[in-house]
Amino acid sequence: MLKGKNAVITGGSRGIGKAIALEFAKNGADIAIIATRESKASDETLKELESFGVRARMYYCDIRDAEQVESAVQEIIADFGTIDILVNNAGITKDNLLPSLGIMDIDNVIDVNLKGCMFVTRSFIRNFVRHRKGSIINISSVVGLMGNKGQTNYAASKAGIVGFTKSVAKEYGRKNIRCNAIAPGYITTDMTAALSETQTEEIKSEIPMGKLGSPEDVARLALFLGSEMSSYITGEVIKVDGGMYV
Ligand code: NDP
Repeated sequence: MLKGKNAVITGGSRGIGKAIALEFAKNGADIAIIATRESKASDETLKELESFGVRARMYYCDIRDAEQVESAVQEIIADFGTIDILVNNAGITKDNLLPSLGIMDIDNVIDVNLKGCMFVTRSFIRNFVRHRKGSIINISSVVGLMGNKGQTNYAASKAGIVGFTKSVAKEYGRKNIRCNAIAPGYITTDMTAALSETQTEEIKSEIPMGKLGSPEDVARLALFLGSEMSSYITGEVIKVDGGMYV
């Protein structure tokens, strides 16, 4: 489905981003991943990607830093040429009740989740415009749509992604560049591994499907949005949450 396409996935070293990278590679795309640093996880992911016979490379940078982003993007474009799909997936949480949230907890979450997504998109947009095509997929969260106690910083960053997604869709629709967001519910990754068993059971009881989702559940929607199957869909926010926010 993606043979001959080049895809960039931020935060693709593990979790949801890794599942998206593997799904894309399984469908023939060459893959560039942006993560913070080389790790056991990133080495492992690279090997798994290469086992599909596609080209895969890791680029290390902190997406909070616009200059680092710009040089990583230039390196990716020099190596891969035209980019067809960008998945802005890198994200972090720093949860606490509002009075206990440190300034750094607010800054870091907004800087990685929202500004990072904007910096990366801004650095790739000329490449998309030049080739008059592209699919941008931003990973938001149901929490950005419904709010969540203890996650004011995170929810605000994810709600910001929704506004950003719709604006990019409007700004670049005529250039044949689509921009959509995915809003996952609770998905089993390192991010949710910190939840206690009681917390997990409580969460499950609020999900109509009665279970957490898998990274692959999100990856299959990303494949649809990245491919020509969704060629007339832009500016949408699609939930993958087992009915959590109905
Ligand atoms: P993980 O914690 O498993 O992975 C986070 C990824 O983001 C890693 O690849 C990490 O790189 C990268 N990353 C973090 N900070 C930076 C940075 N400053 N610069 C570059 N890369 C960075 O997260 P998940 O897979 O769980 O989440 C992926 C996305 O999905 C996030 O945006 C998250 O908010 C969203 N989401 C997740 C849900 C869940 O239940 N898991 C629910 C809803 C949304 P490295 O390996 O180098 O640290």
